[in-house]
Amino acid sequence: MIDILPIRTQRTTASRLAELDPSNLEFGKVFSDHMFAMDYHNGEWQEAQIVPYGNMAVSPANSALHYGQAIFEGMKAYHQVDGGVALFRPFDNWARLNTSAERMCMPTVPEELFMQGLRELIRVDSAWVPTAEGSSLYIRPFMFATDGFIGVRPSESYRFMIFTSPVGLYYNKPLRVRFEQKYVRAAQGGAGYAKNAGNYGAAMYPTKLAQQEGYNQLIWTDASEHQYVEESGTMNAIFVIDGKVVTPALSTSILDGVTRRSVLQLARDMGITVEERKVSSREIMEALAAGKLEEAFGAGTAATIAPIATIGYEGHDYDLPVVAPDAFSKRVGAALNAIRTGEGADVHNWMVRV
Ligand code: PMP
Repeated sequence: MIDILPIRTQRTTASRLAELDPSNLEFGKVFSDHMFAMDYHNGEWQEAQIVPYGNMAVSPANSALHYGQAIFEGMKAYHQVDGGVALFRPFDNWARLNTSAERMCMPTVPEELFMQGLRELIRVDSAWVPTAEGSSLYIRPFMFATDGFIGVRPSESYRFMIFTSPVGLYYNKPLRVRFEQKYVRAAQGGAGYAKNAGNYGAAMYPTKLAQQEGYNQLIWTDASEHQYVEESGTMNAIFVIDGKVVTPALSTSILDGVTRRSVLQLARDMGITVEERKVSSREIMEALAAGKLEEAFGAGTAATIAPIATIGYEGHDYDLPVVAPDAFSKRVGAALNAIRTGEGADVHNWMVRV
């Protein structure tokens, strides 16, 4: 790839790397030494910079704070068995960032700018990519409005940034989830397919209620009937029913997950039937009662493959069968890990070297 941007890089003189305890990486708490930033004004992206990670000043009238023109991505870089570093499907995250940008009336980021900024940042902070099994460098690209103007209209200026955070495993035990039948995450025609900040803020209260009842997460159902499965927290929901991989079809209310897409591809590669269609909570509970629900799991960048052990439905908890070592979720999780670390063949060319 040609380098097209002169990125002004100011390296830190006070690296925090020595303070990092790689054996104790709590998700989202520690940030690598540097961050990437690029401003948009007068209809164009301006000079890009890599600077020490740190606070920044914004106007109190910043329109992202008031009206939520803010979008983000979540992706990972992995330490490779040969010692290098590679990104998992970064073009998919770039494309989704721009899908979100369009939905929120924000400018898109050209592919070359995104990829070059990303690569240079990861190179500068390559020592922060953890090497322990199951760990990775979580990458947070994001964009927000920067106009200091409180009229309700799309901002004219924006900032695109990337920072990174070394992470270990997200959920370390099988999940307890329940179907949500009162609150809604997103409706058809809304912005559920975009990764805009407001979707996450509005999900917190219903999720908090479920957590107070002892669940880790919700499984959202559709906004009009509360019948059909949507997704779960920051994961897409995937089921194995009667030997088939079944997952809700994408729609304007579901985030098009890169992990979901990868799991479905690997299932097809294994010769397993994949069904992307409407899946009702009733179908799941009936399959469970009939002994046909073999597995249920969440799939997402942060959580990777998170098996579901218990589902709450209409006030009762139902336990799923214990996941066997050769279960689909275990095999697909292992196949994904092998691709991500360079141990397995990357037949779909998902990995991009930094
Ligand atoms: N759904 C939602 C609402 C999410 O925030 C995420 C995380 N980005 C996912 C699903 C999973 O997407 P991905 O596999 O791309 O991380």
